[in-house]
Amino acid sequence: MVVVGAGISGLATAYYLRTLATDPNLQVTVFEEAPRPGGKVQTVQCDGFVVEAGPDSFFNQKPDAIQLCHAIGLGDQVISSNDDHYETRVWFRGRLWPLPRGFRMGIPTRIRPFLTTPLLSPFAKARMALDLVLPASSSDSDESVGAFLSRRLGREVVERMAGPILSAIYAGDPYQMSARMILPQLVELERRYRSLMRGLQVARRHRRDGNSSAPASVFSTLRPGMAILPERLAQRLGPDLRLSSRVESLAPQNGRWQIIANGQAWTADAVVLAVPAHVAAKLVATWSREVATELGRFPVSSSVVVALAFQDEDIPELLRRRPVGVVVALTERAQLLALTWSSAKFDDRAPTGWHLLRAFIGGPFQEELARRDPTDLLNCTLAELRRMLGLYARPRRVWIYSWPGAHPQMNVGHLDRIGRIERLLSSHPGIFLTGSAFRGIGLADCVRYARATAQLVLSYFGYKVDAR
Ligand SMILES: Cc1cc2nc3c(=O)[nH]c(=O)nc-3n(C[C@H](O)[C@H](O)[C@H](O)COP(=O)(O)OP(=O)(O)OC[C@H]3O[C@@H](n4cnc5c(N)ncnc54)[C@H](O)[C@@H]3O)c2cc1C
Repeated sequence: MVVVGAGISGLATAYYLRTLATDPNLQVTVFEEAPRPGGKVQTVQCDGFVVEAGPDSFFNQKPDAIQLCHAIGLGDQVISSNDDHYETRVWFRGRLWPLPRGFRMGIPTRIRPFLTTPLLSPFAKARMALDLVLPASSSDSDESVGAFLSRRLGREVVERMAGPILSAIYAGDPYQMSARMILPQLVELERRYRSLMRGLQVARRHRRDGNSSAPASVFSTLRPGMAILPERLAQRLGPDLRLSSRVESLAPQNGRWQIIANGQAWTADAVVLAVPAHVAAKLVATWSREVATELGRFPVSSSVVVALAFQDEDIPELLRRRPVGVVVALTERAQLLALTWSSAKFDDRAPTGWHLLRAFIGGPFQEELARRDPTDLLNCTLAELRRMLGLYARPRRVWIYSWPGAHPQMNVGHLDRIGRIERLLSSHPGIFLTGSAFRGIGLADCVRYARATAQLVLSYFGYKVDAR
């Protein structure tokens, strides 16, 4: 069996194939184009700094990736975000505003803080209350996150609260994102309770009564950096992980699949494609134009991560005492999508006396940024820090990582497209898709989907699979 791609999705698929099958004869080979495993998960450790080029944290409400860390012996490396000394604020009308408490990843979990926040106008608060009486949508079709939340809670909630967080997570436009894909819990609350506010109250009561095992903090990371996760998974594969091995073609051959990697031919009974959608599109194009066309239609956006190190004396006193993260209201013109004060959010990200900040710039409205030269990128980041934080010092060290086309966009109709692809692929037995393009971009989503994919593959081979 072959897995193409050793990002977190491919590595986790290989891990679950081996652990769920409990068959010592099951051969899993993973091909990876790059000379190192991990795909977008990349950490740079230097002089006491832990700089994340790609993902910097796990969202604790989705436990799958952290559970995987525990399963492979990384449990003691998981550290929680310092939520008591660190908060994210919204840049709006020339000021930073606190987000209401109980607001997690763009999803309100409590009502009262919304009614008292100064970030919403009195009119918007009255509009929010209409959610209690408005009928539920009578349509079953997908709509955008922006349209869904505006319809229930009003436009200001989208522009000043949910939108800034979601556009920072997805490098996307909330008025294009699929509500069914991005906020399935809220769509379900409307279906069950009609009112989101009522539904949220019931859900909160259930959480209080139940024994939630999720950690109390919002995020977690790994002490040596996120890359330790793919590195450990890669170690377990040993020589079955073939690095610097680009899969060039994939074709059916006598009921099996032929893979050409670096000019060498391999055959397999099943192949899992754990690569970005446009790469999968190229690999399937010779034997299914229809699947290739659908895969080629998944939109992507670009971003740049600019990490900056400052010394204590560079930072204004007030900020030093109360470091903040920043997201940006949808109504503001800004190149910054988000700013994380990494050394305040997590321990051990910078040496004592230093601060590590991570700016995330770009998104769907400024695609050209990912192609700009580093001096330009640094200058535009520093301009944003001056304007938003009043931070005028030059950073002592800078790391810049461009991510062109790296963010899959799960726009309205996304799940229908996946359904079409799955139907089309069912006439090509032995080919499976997984990865961040399909069922969620977060590391936890990738791990959950990888496990589900491994279960599907094993059932295809007739193994009894533990479906938990
Ligand atoms: C800047 C940034 C910040 C992020 N922040 C977070 C965060 O804080 N938390 C979070 O949960 N998520 C975050 N994400 C999202 C998350 O990192 C990704 O969704 C996830 O890492 C994708 O994993 P993947 O394995 O599906 O894809 P990838 O990581 O893209 O892996 C695909 C692999 O396939 C390989 N490949 C491609 N073509 C071939 C070929 N022909 N042959 C062989 N191999 C091939 C590639 O080299 C790559 O290694 C972030 C993403 C980015 C870009």
